[in-house]
Amino acid sequence: MLDITVNSVMPPKAGQPLGFGRVFTEHMFMMDYTRGQGWHDARVVPYQNISLSPAAMVLHYGQEIFEGLKAYPGENGEVYLFRPDMNAKRSNQSCERLVIPPIPEEDFVQAVKTIVDIDRKWIPTDPGTSLYIRPFIIATDPFLGVAPGSNYLFMIILSPSGAYYESGLEPVGIWIEDEYVRAVRGGMGFAKCGGNYACSLIAQQKAHDDGYSQVLWLDGVERKYIEEVGAMNICFKISGKIVTPVLNGSILPGITRNSVLTLCRDMGYEVEERRISVDELVEAARSGALEECFGTGTAAVISPVGKLRYKDEVMEIGGGKIGPVSQKLYDTLTGIQWGKLDDPYGWRVTV
Ligand SMILES: *Cc1c(COP(=O)(O)O)cnc(C)c1O
Repeated sequence: MLDITVNSVMPPKAGQPLGFGRVFTEHMFMMDYTRGQGWHDARVVPYQNISLSPAAMVLHYGQEIFEGLKAYPGENGEVYLFRPDMNAKRSNQSCERLVIPPIPEEDFVQAVKTIVDIDRKWIPTDPGTSLYIRPFIIATDPFLGVAPGSNYLFMIILSPSGAYYESGLEPVGIWIEDEYVRAVRGGMGFAKCGGNYACSLIAQQKAHDDGYSQVLWLDGVERKYIEEVGAMNICFKISGKIVTPVLNGSILPGITRNSVLTLCRDMGYEVEERRISVDELVEAARSGALEECFGTGTAAVISPVGKLRYKDEVMEIGGGKIGPVSQKLYDTLTGIQWGKLDDPYGWRVTV
């Protein structure tokens, strides 16, 4: 008897651990840009390696931007996206900063919907799981000169992902970084691009070595004002008010952040978007005025912070447990995303 191998790409079975960003679906979206011709040749092809010249500009000078969003499995086989128009808009803001030609917002959203629809059988259905969507653009010209490219590739790949929280929302420990900085005024902190991540790894490593899961960045000039966490924006509840750093050009304008602030205002909280010094935060933690602290981002939605470390001081928040506002925001947002709650904001988009 022959043992015959059948090479077909099958979605992972229910109950299989997925983790994050390691499993990819059967197809991917591609579109080319050529100067003079614009964006053209939108296509869906089997997921595969791509061929690039070793001189491709992206490999040398990092002209690249990306986005991140999710498709959520609803009831009765429905599939939802969450505010994909915001990703399209932010993608173009990132493009503008990195001198990459923009993609019309409606084309971006159409491309996302198309590829998700084609691979919809790959959307996991276990509780809390989703399909992570990663659109990105790279400069492909084979040229070692420093200049904006004339040729770009826009791609969307999809990755079925496990539940971020396996057993309830677990508060994380955060390391306030006082040596390295992520972004400066006039730089590209507000753009979602690989370069911002490359420069953040060293502090991330430092924090991990010390047992902290994430880095909280301070401003790049005075290292005095709170900016954001690795891949999340940060929000505090101080003396009953919701306080978050104002978007100042060096902070990534998170779609979760924007949604959370809207929910907080509608829940009746006073919301302040302003500068927050690390000294103010330490003082609030010492006095007990710091009631809650949480990160906001597509991956975790709400990530409660139970511990903050700054220099030699370790501050515990809310007894290391998740606070009621964090929990309420998490329940509301995930309820809207997975189609379990009404969506008075029109944020949910059916694929
Ligand atoms: C993507 C990202 C966020 C969160 O943005 P969302 O749109 O809420 O997912 C925050 N900070 C950085 C640096 C990011 O790259």
